[in-house]
Amino acid sequence: MLTKSNYLKYLQCTRYAWLYKNRKDLIPEVDDDLQRVFDMGYEIEGYAYKLFSDGVDVGDGDIKEQIEKTKPLMVEKTPVIFQPTISGKGLFCRADIIRYRKELDAWDIIEVKSGTSVKGIHIDDLAFQKACFEENGYKVANFSVIYLDNTYVRKGAIESEKMLKEDDVTKKVNGRSESTEENIKKALTTIKKKDEPQVKILRQCQNPYECPFIPYCWKDFPDDSIYEIGGPLGAGGIEELIDQDIIRTCDIPEGLYTAGKVKRHLDAVKDDVILIDKNKIKENLSRISYPIYYLDYETFGAAIPLLDGFGPYESVSFQYSLHIQEEKDGPLEHYVFLAKEFGDPSAKMAASLKKVIGKKGTIIAWNMSFEKGCNEEMGERAPEYKEFFEDVNERMYDLMEIFRKGYYVDQKFLCSASLKKVLPAMVPELSYDDLDINQGMAASYAWSDMVTKDMKQEEKDKIYNDLLEYCEQDTLAMVKILEKLYQIS
Ligand code: SF4
Repeated sequence: MLTKSNYLKYLQCTRYAWLYKNRKDLIPEVDDDLQRVFDMGYEIEGYAYKLFSDGVDVGDGDIKEQIEKTKPLMVEKTPVIFQPTISGKGLFCRADIIRYRKELDAWDIIEVKSGTSVKGIHIDDLAFQKACFEENGYKVANFSVIYLDNTYVRKGAIESEKMLKEDDVTKKVNGRSESTEENIKKALTTIKKKDEPQVKILRQCQNPYECPFIPYCWKDFPDDSIYEIGGPLGAGGIEELIDQDIIRTCDIPEGLYTAGKVKRHLDAVKDDVILIDKNKIKENLSRISYPIYYLDYETFGAAIPLLDGFGPYESVSFQYSLHIQEEKDGPLEHYVFLAKEFGDPSAKMAASLKKVIGKKGTIIAWNMSFEKGCNEEMGERAPEYKEFFEDVNERMYDLMEIFRKGYYVDQKFLCSASLKKVLPAMVPELSYDDLDINQGMAASYAWSDMVTKDMKQEEKDKIYNDLLEYCEQDTLAMVKILEKLYQIS
C-alpha cells in the first residue's frame, strides 16, 4: 500500500520512501519541536473547518475505522467531509477537506497548509490524492489549497475567513496527472524492493523537508565531509565530487573552486592555517567608535498570531541583551529587558533601550539586518520611539561582515559566518553547550511557553533565567570576538 506521505517522500528521495516503509524503527521519536509543528498544523486545520458550516469530521484515530466511517458519508454525498480516508487499489490517502459539488456530481479536494503561499509539493500532494480518489471510483472536480494570508492582521478573536485564503490549483494538479501516475508506479515498485535503494546523497536530505533518516544515512561520513559545508557547494558541486568518490573536504582537488567562500575554506584546509586579511579587518574596524553597544534581540513569531496587530509569522521582539563598553578594553556594563507578560512589549522595550543607549557611539550586532528589522518594527508599533530607532539603525555595525567577506577564515567555521560556528572556534572557552537554552528557536518557544502556559512559578523562573543567560551569551560573544580582532589587526 502506497500512502500519500510515502509518495511525497519518494519524490524527495527513493531511499526515503523505502526506509519509511521498511525501517520505521530508524525514525526518531517525535520531539517537542516537531510536535509543535504538528500541533500548529492541527490548529490551522481547525480554523479552516470553521469556513465550512456543514462539515462532518471523520476524526482522528484508527485508520480502519476512519475508512469505514468515510464510505457511507461519501455514498450519502455529505456536503463537506473533514479528514475523509480512502484506501484501495494499492493506494491510501487522507484528505483534509472534501466538498461535494451537486451540479457536477463530483468532489472538490481541499488541502490545508500552514505556509503563506502555495508550493510545488502541495500540487504533488493533491495530484496523489486525485489518483487515489479516482482509482477508488470517486469523481473529482476541482482542487484548492487553503493557506495563511500574510496580509491578515489580528484584531480580537481570530477570524478564519480573514486569516485564511483559498487558491484554486485545479489546472496545475490536472497538469501533473500523467507524471503522478508514472511516479506512483515507480514508488510502488521501490517500496516493495527487498533491498534498500542506493542513492547519491545530494541536497534531498534537507529539501524540501529535513529527513529523519539523516543520522542513519550520514553515520559513516567523516567529520570533515563535504556535507558539513553543504549549501555553498550546491547540489551540482556535491554531485560532481561524489562522482569522483570525494567525500572529505581535504580531498577536493586544487583549482576546482577558484573564488568565493568555498575556495577560502579549502585554502585554509590545505595549508591548515587561519587566513587573516589584517588590512581589511583594520579598515573594517575603523568604522567603530566608542562607546560600543553590543546588541542582540530575541523574537517570537507564530503562524497563528498570538497578539492583536500582528499577522501570520510576524515576529514580536521580547528580549534584548546589551553590553556597553565606554572605551577600548574598558569594563563592561550589561543591561537586559525580557517581557514577563503576554502582550506586545515594543513600547516598554524601546523605553528601556532608550534609557541606556546614548547619542554617540557604534551599535554592534551580528547579522545586523535582523536587529535593524526588529528596530523598524518596534518603531512602527511604538511611534514615539521611531526616531530613536532610526538613529540606532544609522549607527549600526555588522560584526559578521568580517567573516562573511572572508577577512578571517578558520576551517572550523565550515564556510559559515554564523555566530554559533565562529564563537567556538575563536573563543572556545565561551560555549553555548552548557546552556539549557542554546538556540534562537528554543528561546523563542521557551518565551511563548513562559507567557502563555499555565505552569508553576519555579518553572517560569527557570525559563526566565535561562533566557537571560542565553541572550547575554550572544552579546558577550561579540565582545570577545571583537577583542580578538583588535588583537590581531
Ligand atoms: S537522509 Fe537523505 S539519503 Fe537518506 S533517506 Fe533521507 S533523504 Fe534519502
